[in-house]
Amino acid sequence: MTTVGILGGGQLARMLALAGAPLGLRFLVMDSVADACAAQFVPQLRADYRDQAALAEFASRVDVATFDFENVPASSAQWLAERIPVFPVPSALAIAQDRLAEKTLFRDLGIAVAAYAQVDSRAALEQAVASVGLPAILKTRRLGYDGKGQFRLRQRSDIDAAWQALGAGAVALILEAWVPFERELSVLAVRARDGEFRAWPITENWHSDGILAASLAPARITDSLQRSALDSAQRIANALDYVGVFALELFECDGALLANEIAPRVHNSGHWTIEGARTSQFENHLRAVLGLPLGSTAAIGHSCMLNWVGDLPDPRPVLSSPYGHWHDYGKSAREGRKVGHATLTAPDREQLADALCVVAEGLQRTAQVAGPLARLRDAAPMWDAP
Ligand code: AMP
Repeated sequence: MTTVGILGGGQLARMLALAGAPLGLRFLVMDSVADACAAQFVPQLRADYRDQAALAEFASRVDVATFDFENVPASSAQWLAERIPVFPVPSALAIAQDRLAEKTLFRDLGIAVAAYAQVDSRAALEQAVASVGLPAILKTRRLGYDGKGQFRLRQRSDIDAAWQALGAGAVALILEAWVPFERELSVLAVRARDGEFRAWPITENWHSDGILAASLAPARITDSLQRSALDSAQRIANALDYVGVFALELFECDGALLANEIAPRVHNSGHWTIEGARTSQFENHLRAVLGLPLGSTAAIGHSCMLNWVGDLPDPRPVLSSPYGHWHDYGKSAREGRKVGHATLTAPDREQLADALCVVAEGLQRTAQVAGPLARLRDAAPMWDAP
């Protein structure tokens, strides 16, 4: 009997455990919160990640450890890795936790990124604005997610407000050029312990208030951009000696791709793979960390995932669709909280568009599907010019 330990007990841990059940796996999640949603059907060790006695107990009860939460202190991950196998390796986690280290790695690997500069003081912010230009976006290097810890600067007079907003020097910051992107894409990929690399078809994403609202896969993308995206993801994974699933978030701008960040874990933009791919991101992550053969990442038809943020809508319009799949994370409603998602997986783009219209009208969520629907109905060719 193999037990997989997961640091973090949120919906990603919950979906990992659901995917692991047919593989005969047991799980243990470690999380300090009382209502960790994975703990509704997985044992929980309730403790802080910095609690060494709890980490020791965790290590004694699991065969391998992985993450549902990327901001587990790197020192805790390292402490565990000295005792049990931990994937991804803590050094990869440490780089992904720091936007500056991450952007620098991308640049060193020859992967295009928006102009950026390190900001450690008010004077450095002035200099960064001069070198990066405006508009720009000031971000905390660490612990930012879903658009939190970010401030957009449109003109020089915003510098004061940006500096005040992001901790006035108490935290390390990075200034990035604002990218007037046409769209946001992500590469979901998995790398095995032996270095084998596989990626799912590229996903197109739409955000609302910095939080993922909808994903569409496979994205319509030219062959050359697809190759470039997969090549970037593979080079990053190899450089980090990464094991498991990760997401590389990209901006498409003026026919080229710019890398934004990687998420060193299963990712919200890959939830469609549960029903829309031969092997889900959750199952392949488990296969990778356990050293099992990877499963096919091929898509089954066309999928659109809709995120439920704050509270759950009525499930019936989704459950009534022949292509609908409902995911309730078992969380209480709270503003800005991801409480569930739905995926529609249809045999072709036309049927997906039709089903999406019916479901969105039933849910009164037409704004949320506007982006995916326009893309599905867009007849413009999206192949490489000869
Ligand atoms: P992040 O936390 O870096 O993933 O940023 C959250 C969201 O903010 C992204 O998905 C984009 O929609 C937007 N964003 C982040 N960085 C930039 C940028 N440099 N230019 C334009 N939009 C950005």
